[in-house]
Amino acid sequence: MVARAKAMPDVHGLREGLIRPEVRDSDLSEHQLLRAVVAQSPVALTVVDAAGFGLLWNPAAERVFGWKAREVVGHHLPTVGHAFESEHAEIVARTFSGEPVLEFETRRCHRDGRMIEVAISTVPLRSHRGDVVAVLGILRDITKRKRIEAELVRQAQHDELTGLLNRRGLTERMGELAAGRDTTHGALTVLNLGRLKEVNDSQGLAAGDEVLRSFAKRLVRAVRPSDVVARLDGDTFVVAMPRIPARNVEAAAARVIDRVGSHYRVGGRELDVDVTAGAAVCSDCDAPEEALRRAAVALHRAKLQARGRLHVLQADDDRAFIERVELAEQLAGAAERGELRLHFQPIVSAASGLITGAEALVRWENPTRGLVLPVEFIPLAEETGSISKVGCWVLDEACRALAGWVAAHPAAAELSVSINLSVAQLLDPDLVPHVAEAVANCGLPPDHLHLEVTESVLSTDPEAAARVLEELHSLGVVLAIDDFGTGNSSLTALRRFPFQVLKVDQSFVSGIGIRPDDETIVAATIGLAHGLGLTAVAEGVETEAQREFLADHGCDELQGYLLGRPEPELAAVVDSPSRGSQRVFRPSALA
Ligand code: C2E
Ligand code: MG
Ligand code: MG
Repeated sequence: MVARAKAMPDVHGLREGLIRPEVRDSDLSEHQLLRAVVAQSPVALTVVDAAGFGLLWNPAAERVFGWKAREVVGHHLPTVGHAFESEHAEIVARTFSGEPVLEFETRRCHRDGRMIEVAISTVPLRSHRGDVVAVLGILRDITKRKRIEAELVRQAQHDELTGLLNRRGLTERMGELAAGRDTTHGALTVLNLGRLKEVNDSQGLAAGDEVLRSFAKRLVRAVRPSDVVARLDGDTFVVAMPRIPARNVEAAAARVIDRVGSHYRVGGRELDVDVTAGAAVCSDCDAPEEALRRAAVALHRAKLQARGRLHVLQADDDRAFIERVELAEQLAGAAERGELRLHFQPIVSAASGLITGAEALVRWENPTRGLVLPVEFIPLAEETGSISKVGCWVLDEACRALAGWVAAHPAAAELSVSINLSVAQLLDPDLVPHVAEAVANCGLPPDHLHLEVTESVLSTDPEAAARVLEELHSLGVVLAIDDFGTGNSSLTALRRFPFQVLKVDQSFVSGIGIRPDDETIVAATIGLAHGLGLTAVAEGVETEAQREFLADHGCDELQGYLLGRPEPELAAVVDSPSRGSQRVFRPSALA
């Protein structure tokens, strides 16, 4: 160890009377006071000279680094221990060259060999002439804080249940891999664990968690060490395979699925799950989000094929399909982003020509595609499960609009609003309470809300549909069978469910005056409705001849372009006279 006797340099300020006179007059001398400050400071204070020799090393510095003052003061610091080797010389040199206060955080080696994290401020100490004669170091041990920070980062990037990376951790890790990779090939496989909901429902959430943990463990064992495994959410996991040639992706993904297996033993019970997976070959997708999106598309396609399937999306896979999946993803958030709109089409009395209500028809104002019609996105919403969200929005919005309409035109208090319900909505357990709430909130009698369903209610779960329709009926809302006559089982639906309104499909109405068979069907359908005590409404009325035929055959209400197109504002429907007709279609009280 190099030691050298060194006189305290002539530091500006020490002889200038730093201490207030009354303190100087006390029992403590100025010197004693300064010593006490240095000795008792909880912050480590060190002073070194230009050559790197220690001039001051207070007890807090002894505690931080483990080195005693006697081992440092008068000694060459870089030689004392490698704690001071690294940037030490450079920092001292920079401070001596006149840089003002330097603040930084760094790692240092404690005398006992462990690494510690320290926050350091270095201050140049100047002589009377202004030259830097020594460097004051003010240091705090921030090891604990750093550890907590690191733990918080770890938690933010990991899934609590399985300990795997979560979506954020995966994205970061993939970003690192992409930055450091030496080849353009990679693949991402998204695995969806089927039957988890059944396990949760039948065995409880703890059993479901156990399956998820076991699945995660097996997945980690099934992949190569260079692969990255993450849990995206719920029952969805991801394996990122960096540097895998495209031709090997399918076999690699299939091998992982095979190794993970489907058989689990939880709480002494045997359980079988299935894994549906989508793998995306990423030859040119640097952005992790893009790779994830492509893998989600692959998974979606696998699910459409069958449960338990693997689909590999090649780099040039079906653009139209990808667009459809993208649209589905955008649709899932369309209601929240305020992109859905309702248009209202008037329904008028065939006898008086006065408006009795309006059908609310949803549209989607897509930021890139413009106005998307329901035929394009309702089937997609049904297929992907976002129909409930869309349907909830439609229900609330239609009731809100009707209430506003009546508030603005109190005389229009008799009007009703019709909304369309998909079968999937009928099977949603939240539907009935939501309808009850929406009706209560709009403050109008429940029969002002009409719910239209098609006979497809018979296709999925007729028992459940019948229960829900009975419940809705007992709430007092009006149920209508829409597009009557277009399916095979319209009559069965009429017999089975409590409908009060029958809507004759426009395909029959359009044949009036053209196809005698259609006229016979329309006339018979109106008779059928009346025979069963239902109100008959004709859809798609476009011509005066159709209107006349329908009125002559006792059809109660009419809807179609002749009487009014769907309009964005309910008020426009009420206030404007219908085009293509001599009559002014207004609610009686407003006319
Ligand atoms: P829908 O319930 O039978 O609605 C009537 C459709 O016929 C509407 O099409 C309407 O614009 C159109 N239409 C009305 N009058 C005429 C006419 O004179 N001539 C012709 N050619 N067409 C006419 P839109 O708005 O495109 O809706 C199509 C279908 O989408 C609806 O058929 C309904 O089944 C479904 N839909 C609309 N909104 C919703 C909704 O909020 N939820 C659900 N689940 N489905 C909806
Ligand atoms: Mg309808
Ligand atoms: Mg219809």
